[in-house]
Amino acid sequence: MGALLQARLSETLRLALVYRLARELNADLRPADVLRRVLNATAEALGTPHASIIALRERQFQGCYALGGGEIDPEPVLRHVIANGLAGFVMHNYRTVILNDISNNPLWLPLPNEPLSPQEGSALCVPLIHSGDMVGVITLAHPARSYFTADAVNLTNTISELGAAALTYTMLLEAARQTEERYATLFDDAIVSIIITDLQGNIVQVNRSACNFLGYTSEELRRQNIMSIHRLGTGPIGADRFEHLKRGLAVRFQSVVWTKDGTNRAVLVHAKRINIGKNDDRIQWIEHDMTSQIMLEQLRRDLSAMVYHDMRGPLGNIYTSLEALKKLLVDHENKSIQSLLDVAARSERQVRRMIDSLLDVQRLEEGNKLLTRQNIKISTLVENAVEQMQPLAEEKTILIRLALADDLPMLYVDDNMIGRVVINLLDNAIKYTPEGGSITVSTATSGNEVYIRIKDTGPGIPFEAQAMIFDKFARVKQRNMPHGVGLGLAFCKLAVEAHGGRIWVNSNEQSGSTFTFALPVEAPATKELPILGTAVQ
Ligand code: ADP
Repeated sequence: MGALLQARLSETLRLALVYRLARELNADLRPADVLRRVLNATAEALGTPHASIIALRERQFQGCYALGGGEIDPEPVLRHVIANGLAGFVMHNYRTVILNDISNNPLWLPLPNEPLSPQEGSALCVPLIHSGDMVGVITLAHPARSYFTADAVNLTNTISELGAAALTYTMLLEAARQTEERYATLFDDAIVSIIITDLQGNIVQVNRSACNFLGYTSEELRRQNIMSIHRLGTGPIGADRFEHLKRGLAVRFQSVVWTKDGTNRAVLVHAKRINIGKNDDRIQWIEHDMTSQIMLEQLRRDLSAMVYHDMRGPLGNIYTSLEALKKLLVDHENKSIQSLLDVAARSERQVRRMIDSLLDVQRLEEGNKLLTRQNIKISTLVENAVEQMQPLAEEKTILIRLALADDLPMLYVDDNMIGRVVINLLDNAIKYTPEGGSITVSTATSGNEVYIRIKDTGPGIPFEAQAMIFDKFARVKQRNMPHGVGLGLAFCKLAVEAHGGRIWVNSNEQSGSTFTFALPVEAPATKELPILGTAVQ
């Protein structure tokens, strides 16, 4: 038998076989086809009636095939052959094993449900290794003992090297194919509308949601440019945005899209450049329908503006009644009546300030310009604010020091609004400074700006919270701190920025907080407030 095999495995035969197999293993194959071809070629070359192949990926079982049969149920293979048999031994040891007599060998556990597996004879088991990774094993069996010679092993090794490379390649391709399919499903089933364009804005792909939202078919959309979907002339996708996108920056803006039936819908667009393949750059536009949010938001704004506005009337009545009462009771012998009336009047003023600030926040957020500006002396404005807050400071035995610069230039501002900025900052300083502390209010000028600074000896503001305290409803979570709603500083920021100024805080936990705001001396046109539609990230 040995001599016969020697003859069959002549060098020419071997080369012809390997060459044939190499040609057969091409990129169009699926991993299962590769496994079958490698299995058939090996069994044919070695003349073995029994052969099986097991494929692995990242040491996980991928599949098992037997010669002349279909795919084998993984469960018994895993439990039986891989756990205790010859294939498992080869997988763990990364080397070829020959069993010259299988009848007494404990490693010989033929494949379950394979009645043709021999119980006698010899077996050869070869690992399929590619770039150091185990990608499978081939087991060959023959009813004759000592059937497999060194030459047979050599040939099997050559075939398995070829098979391992092809298997790795096709498994990678298969994984890529599956990922692509998953992405395609995700893309098409996404509930947001997604449009993919080239770098010039020509639409190349759209998902189902985009078609439904815009009322066009996919083919109709693929004949259009993103500029014709978005309302032209409002400039949401100007040349500068395209430049940003081309440079790889993400862009977020509010816009309006035209649907096929001629209606327009407000959208929030997230656009960014994506790289689909080599030299295949695209822009992905995600369009969020904002119609219902905008309607709801408008309703909420209108409703709260109405409520705030209507609260002013009764508050005004409270104010005038308190003033009248104070006059009536001016000679009353019980002096605590006067101080009770003072407390009531102060509280009324505080609520009125809060309502005014709420209305202002709303107006300023909508980008409304300041209407009631006049030239004022900032020192007078600061002194008035301090005078108003003095009683509150005295209640906590907090000393307010004034260090106001002389000859500051006049400022062209809405004095009621800027007055409330100072009062808000003083209110916070008093609120957060412990009893017996002090507050220093100073003014200065530098360049084209006037600075107003309020420094306290309170607990300070942690560095990481400093950036967010100017956001609406932002509060720093600290124990034993007074409660508020987190609107005061948001109002201050909007008010100062509407005057073309800026506001910031310096603080450390040892020396309290210092809030500073700067207003330009030359009154600029009211600064355009950042509308959602223009923010570029
Ligand atoms: P409110 O005081 O109503 O909570 P603000 O917008 O005025 O809202 O302030 C936001 C947060 O900033 C406060 O909750 C507080 O944590 C912090 N803060 C503001 N001013 C001071 C200050 N002078 N000292 C310490 N913390 C302050």
